[in-house]
Amino acid sequence: MKKTLMIIGAGASGMFSAFSVAGNQFGYKNNLEIMILDANEAPGKKILMTGNGRCNLCNIDTDESKYYCSDLQFVKNTLDRFGPDDVITAFQQLGITLKNKNGYIYPASMQALTVSRTLISALRILGVTLINNCKVQSISVTQDSTFCLDVSENDKRKQYKADYVIVSCGSNAGLKTNAARELIESLIDLGHTYHPMIPALCSLYADQSDACYKEFFKKVSGVRTEIKATLNNHAHTFSSVGELQITDYGLSGIVIFQISHIASQFINRQKKSCVHLSIDFLPESDPYEMLEFLKSQIGYHKKSLLDLLSGVLNAKLALGLINLYSSICDSDTKPFLKNCTDEQLLKILTFIKNTPFIIKGTNDIYHSQVCSGGIDVSDISKDTLESNRIKHLYFTGEILDVDGICGGYNLQWAWSTGYIAGRSVAGDLAGNIERKSVTNTERGDVKERSATNDSNCSD
Ligand SMILES: Cc1cc2nc3c(=O)[nH]c(=O)nc-3n(C[C@H](O)[C@H](O)[C@H](O)COP(=O)(O)OP(=O)(O)OC[C@H]3O[C@@H](n4cnc5c(N)ncnc54)[C@H](O)[C@@H]3O)c2cc1C
Repeated sequence: MKKTLMIIGAGASGMFSAFSVAGNQFGYKNNLEIMILDANEAPGKKILMTGNGRCNLCNIDTDESKYYCSDLQFVKNTLDRFGPDDVITAFQQLGITLKNKNGYIYPASMQALTVSRTLISALRILGVTLINNCKVQSISVTQDSTFCLDVSENDKRKQYKADYVIVSCGSNAGLKTNAARELIESLIDLGHTYHPMIPALCSLYADQSDACYKEFFKKVSGVRTEIKATLNNHAHTFSSVGELQITDYGLSGIVIFQISHIASQFINRQKKSCVHLSIDFLPESDPYEMLEFLKSQIGYHKKSLLDLLSGVLNAKLALGLINLYSSICDSDTKPFLKNCTDEQLLKILTFIKNTPFIIKGTNDIYHSQVCSGGIDVSDISKDTLESNRIKHLYFTGEILDVDGICGGYNLQWAWSTGYIAGRSVAGDLAGNIERKSVTNTERGDVKERSATNDSNCSD
């Protein structure tokens, strides 16, 4: 009898797992029906948002060190089986030409639409059924060890039966709705450990209770610049180098996203009231070398402090930093000050290389790119991504408690886990079919033998 695979979620990992099964089960085509149920009105909605609409679909420089997970061996095992080279080959086979920008892989069209449209059309060609506006509310195991999915489809309650289920419901990062809330409750009821999802890859809110910081963010908002950011929490420091975007509420940009997982753990998981962040606004220079550089300028003594610093920093930022320094460290230091002593200059350069900020909060989940939290990987087989609790139930993508830093690593996780779960279902089905055909052959043998016996009897 034909078996049914239900995939919950038509995001990157759900669609790729369907592709992985459907692309593999040519020999078993008559034995498996594949359906993807998605709460949204169209499949692949989040893919369209990725990489600012350009979809950074993986990164050549990928290994487990780019991820946060309680078991990095689990991540390594997954990436070893389907890494960036495999992603590149798969998408080329799907008909997409790719662009490599310093190791970051994009579709050559630089359109995320290329990726989602290609996946959807491949699935339709392979006979996968995609059902939209279908929110899975609960999943239960029936007496005959199959699954019953309670859904709300176009606002009508309905049930689907399935032999295999892949849970690819992702997170609500970047989305306005939390379609997976009830589904997660039923996964917990089935014995899985779930860590509540908190934002990761998100902007940070800076404390502006001090008027000088309020003024700084008001005046400097909109500036983008290369920095080194260091989060200090007790004995631990975490650093990242890259582009900062200053906003009216605080700090954003890739450099902040890269440390936001850690800040979020302290603030949202451990409920600390704040974390301390210091920014090096001149990450490529040593203060003594910079002092010599400033002093070597023509007309150095006649230049104001603002003129001097505007040569090495964004002018708006230079003004903001001098004012901040003046408020916090030395009220005599003003932007128009000329003829600074070496000592004065060195002090302000040291401040610019170590400017303190207090982080009071993170942006919310809907404005983050990924979440930290999800189903604990200790409940999942690292080889098949099948639940250790429930047979024939698999997990892919962001619903697992694994999140990557910025740079194509989260989609890589979606493709890798989608591939492995899909292959596992195909493998299990093949095993079943092989086992069945062996039994049939055995039965056939018996039949033949008894026919012979019959004929012997008639003799
Ligand atoms: C703005 C933005 C930019 C990003 N850019 C990049 C990037 O360039 N590179 C990168 O690697 N990563 C990027 N990411 C992260 C990446 O998009 C995700 O990690 C990845 O899409 C997760 O895939 P997924 O399949 O696990 O989950 P999702 O993409 O979240 O898909 C889950 C699907 O399940 C559906 N669903 C949920 N609950 C239910 C339910 N109960 N019933 C039915 N359906 C349900 C949802 O509607 C959704 O379609 C970005 C994310 C955002 C928000």
